[in-house]
Amino acid sequence: MTFPIRADNPATFTGPLPEAADVVVIGGGVIGVMTAWFLARRGVKVVLCEKGRIAGEQSSRNWGWVRQQGRDPAELPIMIEAMAIWKGLSAEAGADLGFRQTGVLYLANKPADLARYEGWMVHARAHGLDTRMVTASEVAAMLPNAAGWLGGIWTASDARAEPWIAVPRIATALAARGVAIREDCAVRALDIAGGRIAGVLTERGRIRADRVVLAGGAWSALLARAQGIGLPQLSVRATVAATEPLPEVWTGAAADSHFAIRRRADGGYTLAPGHFHEFFIGPDAFRNLWAFRAQILSDLSGTRFLPAAPKHYPDAWGTPRRWSPDGESPFERVRVLDPAPNRAEIERLRTRFAAAFPALGKPAIRTAWAGMIDTMPDVVPVIDHAAALPGLTIATGMSGHGFGIGPGVGRVVADLVAGLAPGHDLARFRLARFSDGSRIELGPAL
Ligand SMILES: Cc1cc2nc3c(=O)[nH]c(=O)nc-3n(C[C@H](O)[C@H](O)[C@H](O)COP(=O)(O)OP(=O)(O)OC[C@H]3O[C@@H](n4cnc5c(N)ncnc54)[C@H](O)[C@@H]3O)c2cc1C
Repeated sequence: MTFPIRADNPATFTGPLPEAADVVVIGGGVIGVMTAWFLARRGVKVVLCEKGRIAGEQSSRNWGWVRQQGRDPAELPIMIEAMAIWKGLSAEAGADLGFRQTGVLYLANKPADLARYEGWMVHARAHGLDTRMVTASEVAAMLPNAAGWLGGIWTASDARAEPWIAVPRIATALAARGVAIREDCAVRALDIAGGRIAGVLTERGRIRADRVVLAGGAWSALLARAQGIGLPQLSVRATVAATEPLPEVWTGAAADSHFAIRRRADGGYTLAPGHFHEFFIGPDAFRNLWAFRAQILSDLSGTRFLPAAPKHYPDAWGTPRRWSPDGESPFERVRVLDPAPNRAEIERLRTRFAAAFPALGKPAIRTAWAGMIDTMPDVVPVIDHAAALPGLTIATGMSGHGFGIGPGVGRVVADLVAGLAPGHDLARFRLARFSDGSRIELGPAL
């Protein structure tokens, strides 16, 4: 498996375009793939359209944390279900996805961190999780270090998986079951007839379907808005690095305010800044400024603002907001969003890693990359039918934590689309919360 997944990687999922389906899924990230997975299990005929490569964007570029810890209470029941699905997924897919329950540890640099962690314990207890606070000496015994952490919060049942292996392997298993997955197949527009979904218009032709799932990650708002559906979604660039193999000081995932590490199956660590991302200002930033004000103010110190996104990005200044389905759309211009990583930040990460683990020293970096994290104003996703357009279901805005919960969201969305009860309270994830005067309640900043 070559990583990072880029547009020049050969397409794996090819074939003629089906003329019709029960459901078309737009987007081959973890959400689209897992939605298709559960729809197929229900015997629904599904076609998945991916403009570039399966998992080319966020779903391969993430840290690989599969965590319950620190989640919004409304997400927790879905995440607990997702964890149960992950446990059986390698066996079901017939391939190792790198899923290991090696735990997640948040570390405290200052007393205020401990207080925040303690505040989240109420949710852990309410949901019967094995999460517990750990003292400084417990931390030192678990993870020998020179960082002087004051303690932390620990969930032993949390897990890791290998992002750039897992989602493509699940897609391979899905294709082997006869599901049509098509790469290089951008959906240019929704096909609407009589005020409801009649299918999609792709770069390769039309697919008839009376139900469509929009799981387009950082591109969802661009497509939705062109169809008259407002979705206040913005994206930030997040830099990540993979070290060369190193001795195993820690087998799970851990983070403090400066950096995050996760042990990989290949013996290296995935290393990233704890609270640092970059925000490219564009037209949607202004359009959504009011909705995002609480989130922006809560994380000013961790955000670097840049005046413009690279050309053709979803919220770049020159990206068209309207186009004809008969010609090239913005989705084909960027097959795979592949932002340049911030090299200065990677150097800082190496220094911080060496300061915390002097025995390992400054790690050699095998590869570095970045991803555009799509986020909603309250840092929780939209999982809902679009009331204004019967037949359309939206599952997007996973807000930086959609990899772990992906299998659970996929099951929920598949049941929503099939007209079944989703099994969880989805009120927190409804689309109308951004337009019906509801107060924006930020999810936990853990
Ligand atoms: C650096 C980083 C670290 C992260 N760490 C974690 C973590 O440790 N744990 C965790 O749980 N989450 C993490 N996340 C978040 C997680 O990766 C995402 O929430 C999740 O992958 C989102 O999945 P998705 O399917 O919604 O979107 P994506 O994976 O972005 O997939 C969307 C797909 O839709 C396609 N698409 C868009 N528009 C169209 C169109 N019109 N036609 C056809 N195809 C289209 C795109 O090409 C893309 O492949 C991280 C994210 C990043 C970037």
